Amino acid sequence: IGGGHFAMIAGPCSVETEDQIIGVAQAVKAAGAQILRGGAYKPRTSPYAFQGLKGDGLKLLMEAKKQTGLPIVSEIMNAVHIPMFEEAVDLIQVGARNMQNFELLKELGKIRKPILLKRGLANTIDEMLMSAEYIMAGGNENVILCERGIRTFETRTRNTLDLSAIPVLKKLTHLPIVIDPSHAMGYSHLVKPMAMAAAVAGADGLMIEVHNNPAKALCDGPQSLTP
Ligand code: PEP
Ligand code: MN
Repeated sequence: IGGGHFAMIAGPCSVETEDQIIGVAQAVKAAGAQILRGGAYKPRTSPYAFQGLKGDGLKLLMEAKKQTGLPIVSEIMNAVHIPMFEEAVDLIQVGARNMQNFELLKELGKIRKPILLKRGLANTIDEMLMSAEYIMAGGNENVILCERGIRTFETRTRNTLDLSAIPVLKKLTHLPIVIDPSHAMGYSHLVKPMAMAAAVAGADGLMIEVHNNPAKALCDGPQSLTP
């Protein structure tokens, strides 16, 4: 990711079953993705919503990696899981809701696994850069930034994709920038135009949610592309 290489990350919001994650992994690989995403620990707004398969989800991701060779990215929510994530995944995601969980960021600064740091729902670019500094100050300089849309007054899209973050960040930092048009837009038919716009604006990669059966997805079906 970065250094002139445009990275494609794709996969379901959440790992649900073995068939689902293996099937989606094979499909996104065939479509050109280089990294598989899949949530195992899910930060859901409602405590009654599907919370992810947790450790079992990470195991299924490892199986998908074994079968396809695709490296894995998954979200961490608690520092006590760091040893497990170091073992299971290639890239550790810090989600929007934890962008300013400074104690988590400090712990991630102690390891050397790359971190995909997502922009908080209502955080400025400078705040995102300071969160990256929390990780790098500990010695882990393998940080990738991810713009995933921010909260505005607009309700026609799930969030507002701040494409201006790309050229602004390019001026301020050497860190690679990945755009997540899935969480930004919230609807699958809006993902492609903003993915293309992100590429034109200079992003270093894309992260796209893909599900084998979006209508039955346990999380984020409406924004998921089919393989
Ligand atoms: C996700 O990537 O599935 C996710 C929960 O993203 P965000 O933290 O950007 O909402
Ligand atoms: Mn999601």
